Amino acid sequence: MAKQIFLYDTTLRDGTQGEEVSFSAEDKLRIAKKLDEFGVHYVEGGWPGSNPRDARFFEMAGKTTFAQARLTAFGSTRKPRIVPEKDGNIQALLRTETETVTIFGKSWDLHVTEILNIEPDENLAMIEESVSYLKSRDRRVIYDAEHFFDGFKRNRDYAMRTVKAAVEGGADYIVLCDTNGGTLPYEIQHVMEEVSPLITPALGIHAHNDCGLALANSLEAVRCGAVMVQGTINGYGERCGNTDLTAVIGALQVKMGHPCISEEKLERLTELSRFVSEVANVPPLNQRPFVGKSAFAHKGGVHVSAIIKNPAAYEHIDPEKVGNRRRVLVSDLSGKSNIEYKARELNVKVGGNGWGSDKIVQEIKKLEDQGYQFDAAEGSLELLMKKVTGQFHAPFHLESLRVTIEKNRSGPSTSQATIKISVADDYEITAAEGDGPVNAIDNALRKALYKFFPQVEEMKLVDFKVRVIDGSDGTAAKVRVQIESRDAREIWSTIGVSENVIEASWQALVDSVQYKLSRIQNGH
Ligand SMILES: [Zn+2]
Repeated sequence: MAKQIFLYDTTLRDGTQGEEVSFSAEDKLRIAKKLDEFGVHYVEGGWPGSNPRDARFFEMAGKTTFAQARLTAFGSTRKPRIVPEKDGNIQALLRTETETVTIFGKSWDLHVTEILNIEPDENLAMIEESVSYLKSRDRRVIYDAEHFFDGFKRNRDYAMRTVKAAVEGGADYIVLCDTNGGTLPYEIQHVMEEVSPLITPALGIHAHNDCGLALANSLEAVRCGAVMVQGTINGYGERCGNTDLTAVIGALQVKMGHPCISEEKLERLTELSRFVSEVANVPPLNQRPFVGKSAFAHKGGVHVSAIIKNPAAYEHIDPEKVGNRRRVLVSDLSGKSNIEYKARELNVKVGGNGWGSDKIVQEIKKLEDQGYQFDAAEGSLELLMKKVTGQFHAPFHLESLRVTIEKNRSGPSTSQATIKISVADDYEITAAEGDGPVNAIDNALRKALYKFFPQVEEMKLVDFKVRVIDGSDGTAAKVRVQIESRDAREIWSTIGVSENVIEASWQALVDSVQYKLSRIQNGH
């Protein structure tokens, strides 16, 4: 039966425990606003008692109006042997003035007796008193039962008593946590089936991905009665991460029919995922379900000719439902159908100047043999197809380029690039510095182009990869440079191959800029 699911995002707290993720208070506010806009119900802002940055975030967030999201402060139950009124953490939670607070407590007796080193009954009192104190201060209280599944396995009776203490205290939600991420979906089912008839407040699930099962476990919990799912955007989080809310939303709403957010917001799921990776400064994972760049990419010729007839042949859902798009990749494995599909998609007419799809396939095979890889560089592929079919007009030409790198005994190295380009009958010469030679060239090129095409300001280089490809037959090793760029509308990849890393970088960089300029000319 379809039921409304409440999404509880902890990107700003649990997500920041991820190894590569760190947010300033300002970053956190941007993400919180985006989550609110998107329709997430609860946004956990942080642990105000644990660090000044989170306290500052709550101060700023307190002055912000959220359309529908409930901002939530996170903390632990009171410390042993003191009253909540005297507990610094609990008082910090109240100072945030959020109407909802989440507190976690211990469900596993191992943590109570061996880690906290307190009496089991004191732990029960800590839970109940903390919850009831917060309730007496008019807060909605979400109780996170830390290590609930592990605790239940080892001492079922005690784990249940901890949760009942939270119920007694008046908790509004009881969230069962698989904190170590080691629980399997059928175990979730068994535990949930036993627990849910005994608990009156609404149940939630908080899973970690240590066995790659956080999503499966969350879906299973919903199937067995949970109505709240906690997780993070893109699955950021400690160790192997938390449940990825983007996949949760896709699976619950599209596949299981449980409404989470409005259908129209669902079409912005991919955008949300990219926004958060951008703020986190972590390159987006191409294979991420529903929202990854490769989630609806087709490479094999057989697959491509099938999806041309009917996309359902190799797609589990319509990519547009989640704001993603179908991509047909072209590589040396491709046949004519990939090229023809791609040509239609890109609005390139093939065959007019003798370059039909057969000849383009041959050209791609030849270049891939030299080290290019077009399935990972669609921007360059588009330009290549336009060039060979005579449908590309270079917006600028390089006249000359000089790069210098200086390094001395004590200081870091510095790079400088001087560039001369021509645009129609006009010339421009500029120089720029950079963190490295490629950065210097990039800066100089943009500076030169800015006069003619101010839109180059909109694009940003987001990833730069260099890979050495084997130098067979005693020739020097070649390098392949792949650049990923983005503007407000799209992300595109370009490629360069050479024995010289500067030359390879130049090729990839020029393709990247030309791709952007071709979009402007087409009026995008
Ligand atoms: Zn967690």
